[in-house]
Amino acid sequence: MDSLFRFSALAEKMQPSPIRELFKMIQRPGMISFAGGLPDPAAFPVSAFASCANVLERDGTKVLQYGASEGYEPLRAALFDLMQKPQALGYRPGAEELLITSGSQQAVDLVGRALLDPGDVVIVEAPTYPGTLHSLRNAGARFATIKCDGDGMCVEALPELIAAVERESGQRPKLIYSIPTFSNPSGACLSLGRRQRLLEIATKFNIPIFEDDPYGRLRFSGEAIPSIKSIAGDSPLVIYASSFSKILAPGVRVAWTVADPKLIRSMVMMRQGEDLCTSTVTQALVAEYCAKGLLESHLEHIISVYQTKSSAMQKALVEFIASESAEWHEPEGGFFFWLHLLGRNSDEVFHRAIEENIAFVPGHSFYPDHDEQVGPTNEGSQYARLCFTFANSNQITEGCQRLARVLVQGDKNP
Ligand code: PMP
Repeated sequence: MDSLFRFSALAEKMQPSPIRELFKMIQRPGMISFAGGLPDPAAFPVSAFASCANVLERDGTKVLQYGASEGYEPLRAALFDLMQKPQALGYRPGAEELLITSGSQQAVDLVGRALLDPGDVVIVEAPTYPGTLHSLRNAGARFATIKCDGDGMCVEALPELIAAVERESGQRPKLIYSIPTFSNPSGACLSLGRRQRLLEIATKFNIPIFEDDPYGRLRFSGEAIPSIKSIAGDSPLVIYASSFSKILAPGVRVAWTVADPKLIRSMVMMRQGEDLCTSTVTQALVAEYCAKGLLESHLEHIISVYQTKSSAMQKALVEFIASESAEWHEPEGGFFFWLHLLGRNSDEVFHRAIEENIAFVPGHSFYPDHDEQVGPTNEGSQYARLCFTFANSNQITEGCQRLARVLVQGDKNP
């Protein structure tokens, strides 16, 4: 026998996360990284968060215990308030509509396992967040990709895509997954008109929408646009997820989902076979942080930090990168620039960039593999994701200069 372990079919075909693999390649001195989608560590509210540890003295006997699968009550109370704000849902969800999860990565995983059988088709934006592809792939999903432009998903193409999937696979897609506000990786924000149209189409075809919204509160310019969930009002069609990862710290691993009570119940039962509950200790720390009123002022602070960094990246890209080498839309919030490297292969550019000590994520990582796509296929070989939140302003300028050098070299030696 070759191996003691006879791995499952799923484990046998699993690939490592492309972005997590990149991290290993770019850990070297002098490297400037626009690769990881990481918050600015200098902006973490370290002392304020540490001061919340008093909750362990005060409520330690509860906080150190197993918690309810639905979430720790004081944090649930804080989330009902947070969701009521006009910048969030603008209404208070019902008690049975809310679930706290261990990161929104877990929310995607639970929804995938609650709704999908192997072979089911999910519509995803092209490009989309690879962590979602990974989770839904684990649930056996296949993917139909819908193109995006500077205003997000090209929703008018949806009815034809749904028809193409039905023709090819004999089944209707089971879910539409979207990151409508400051998408990872494109930074695009779906316009209000498109949000309304997306809802109309999803309602007509009776396909639920998963609105993944970890970046929505990080708007630094332009007009706020309501979430799809809030536009949908009473309709159970929209599953809404957000997270403390980008607005507080990813290390807390605390996120939440607002959805129809039947789906929430199914997710709760799924997670009872997985992690039982999110760490009560971190939920209590986050709850205390919110109860002390620290979240809103922290948000103001990071929005201004990220605005400065985004402007620094925009300025440096305009200054150093020739207009015939790349084009992009300046984001109004979130973490990312999405560069179209005109006529170039971003994997090839990536390898040259690493030699110049500048890292980004090549576009193909944000698309499903060809063999798991149903309907017309899309791929991102000419694109690059640049994260502007992690590097400092000097590194942003220097990093864009290095990238410009790489693009010029490549132009001379195609
Ligand atoms: N969805 C999107 C769109 C993301 O960008 C990320 C993290 N990069 C996640 C979900 C997962 O976030 P969390 O840390 O809450 O698990």
